[in-house]
Formats: sequence, C-alpha cells, structure tokens
Amino acid sequence: MMSGRHILLFFILSILVGCSGLEKSQQQKVRQYNLILSPIERLEHEELFSFPKIERQAPPSYPWDAKHIGSHLRITKEFFRCRGNILNPPIQIIKFKELVYHQDCGGIERHSLPLKNGEEFIYPILIDLLNYVQEKTEKKVVITCGHRCPAHHLYADPSPASQSSKHLIGAEVDFYVEGYEHNPTAIIEVLESYFSSPFLRSQPLSKSSTPAWYNQEIAITLFHRQEGRDLDNNHPYPYLSLQVLYDKETKRGVHFNWHQAYNGYLKN
Ligand SMILES: [Zn+2]
Repeated sequence: MMSGRHILLFFILSILVGCSGLEKSQQQKVRQYNLILSPIERLEHEELFSFPKIERQAPPSYPWDAKHIGSHLRITKEFFRCRGNILNPPIQIIKFKELVYHQDCGGIERHSLPLKNGEEFIYPILIDLLNYVQEKTEKKVVITCGHRCPAHHLYADPSPASQSSKHLIGAEVDFYVEGYEHNPTAIIEVLESYFSSPFLRSQPLSKSSTPAWYNQEIAITLFHRQEGRDLDNNHPYPYLSLQVLYDKETKRGVHFNWHQAYNGYLKN
C-alpha cells in the first residue's frame, strides 16, 4: 500500500511529466504556426562562386617520395635520432685520468639532430642509399645507430679511439637488413649497384677485420657478429656501417669536426 508520503511524491512526479509533455506539444504548435515553406529561387545557370579552371600536372614521382617503399616505411632523417635514454644507469669512465660517473643523454626529448643552416640535417646520401636498399630488397632496413650526441656516444662506446666518429655529425649510420641478417655482403652488392662504378677496397677501418669498400663518396665497413659491439649495436647479427667521405653538394670532403659534433645541435 502507498503511504501518504509516496502518494504526494507520485502526484508531484505526474505534474512534472505532464508539464514537460505539455511544453513539447506547445512548442510543436508554435513551430507549425510560424513555418513558411517557400522554394529556393535561383537563376538558370547561376553559380555561387566561380573558380578559374586549373590544368594540373601530375607531380614527378620518386620512389622515396612515397611514405612507404613497398610495405616498408620510407626512411627519413627521423630514423637517425639519438638513442640515448636518461633511465640508463650511469657508467664509470676515465676522464682526465680520473674515474668518474657518466650519465647517458636524454635522447630525442633533450636535443635535436645536427643542424645545417638552422635545420636538422643528416647527409642525404645516407638516407637515399638506405631507401634504395629497401626498394631493391623489399626488406626492412633496421638502423641501429644514426646520430649520436657526444654524451650518448661516450656512454654507448667509451673507448677513446671511437670519440671522433662521424655519427656525431650525422655522416654515419649503422644498420642491418631483415632477411639479410647473415648475408651482409649481398647488401654491399646492392649498394654498389646504386653507383656507376664498382667499389674499391681499402685497409680495414675502425674495429673491423674486413677491408672496407669505398668510392669517392662513401665508405662501408662490415662488422662481423663479434666485432664493433656497443650499446646501440648490441644485437647478434653482423652489421654494416656507412660513412660519408665527400659531400657532392658542397664539393668538400666530410671529416669529423669537434665544434660541429659538440655544438652543432640544439639542446633543451
Ligand atoms: Zn643524445
């Protein structure tokens, strides 16, 4: 049975519901009363806006202009960003004959790529060659080390002999190719086919036991699976390192430059 209180509540609710229904029907009546239907009148051939007709030409296409090359993402300078991580624990290094702690850099949040004319810059021949490899092999190029800032470079590879690396100036890249992990010489042949003449061979560079391949513009070092290991190349595969020897745009040799390496990028 309903108590007196419940009856009162029911009564109030009924009024509220009734009111909102009443309001709706009133609104409909007002809308119908005010509604005037009239056709939209336009002149024959009338155009609201007139646009000049533009004959468009298809832009020229280059394989690496597309966002993808085959099923793989086109390589851009973004792929070369420093892999430093502030969460890495400090390491001990010898600096000025003293044992000191060294912290890794904060990675892409903390600094830019090397700058050229105020813009982030990686030598274009490196980007073009890696896209060429992806296009020819239809396999993914895995960049393990592109640009390294001095702090991350020292953290990843503290050996004194490595401190003048072209990784610091955006002129060197380490990589392997999926599906060709154990056949890096096939990739060297692909790289060779990019150029009009065959590579020459030189003494082994850096920590490699294999004579390097080179031409006027680039040099390639092959590191076997026990060679050239550092924090960024801490994987079980052989890998290739490409470095720029000559900049075709400026017609100058490309050399490690301390000022460029240490000051040629923006820091947060
Ligand atoms: Zn860094």
